[in-house]
Amino acid sequence: MRRYEDSYKQKGLRKQLVDSIRQKGITDENVLAAINNIPRHYFLDTAFDGIAYEDRAFPIGEGQTISQPYTVAYQSQLLEVKPFEKVLEIGTGSAYQACVLAELKVNVYTIERQKKLFDLVKQFPFKSRYPTIRFFYGDGYEGLPTFAPFDKVLVTAAAPQIPEKLLKQLKIGGRMVIPVGAQDIQRMLRITKVGEDEYEQETFDNFSFVPMLSGKKS
Ligand code: SAH
Repeated sequence: MRRYEDSYKQKGLRKQLVDSIRQKGITDENVLAAINNIPRHYFLDTAFDGIAYEDRAFPIGEGQTISQPYTVAYQSQLLEVKPFEKVLEIGTGSAYQACVLAELKVNVYTIERQKKLFDLVKQFPFKSRYPTIRFFYGDGYEGLPTFAPFDKVLVTAAAPQIPEKLLKQLKIGGRMVIPVGAQDIQRMLRITKVGEDEYEQETFDNFSFVPMLSGKKS
């Protein structure tokens, strides 16, 4: 069992991680502060304690990964959230990204399609630290129509194309950040909803995410 302790050593390694992310081009100080505030090792098996602050993705079980911190920072920066916004995240995974969003003072609605990962996340202590995160077990392709519209949508799995239903659940003026493309490489897109059926698209760097799959997995 993990003991939730954040040592000076881990704090120091985290600061170095933040410096390296800054050097790779992340400039949003709120995002960098969020990464600095969250003990990433809590989201991983204790076997990863020695390497949790390397800027790498790591396995979290069920064939899934916690994203690379640089990627988390990159997506968070592109989303340009403001406090109290409603943000829908697709792909809870370890919930690390959800916690980064919560540190940015938004209300997070996060969906995971794998029941085992959804159940695991519920055992972590950040549930009380971040009461603004709501967890859902379901298919992200459907979004959360009951809670729509959202100011922002963040997709943290690779989508073969932009999911229509998620566009519909954006507010006018709202934004979606999503990696779109083939299995091994995707292009990061930012879509802004400028009218009821009108969107503007910006294109950013290439990334490699695990796939966004249809349907729930029990
Ligand atoms: N944001 C996560 C990274 C998760 S990796 C983190 O910070 O750790 C992507 C996650 O998306 C995986 O857990 C995968 O099971 C989930 N996923 C894939 N397709 C999905 C879908 N259609 N709906 C919800 N979650 C999905």
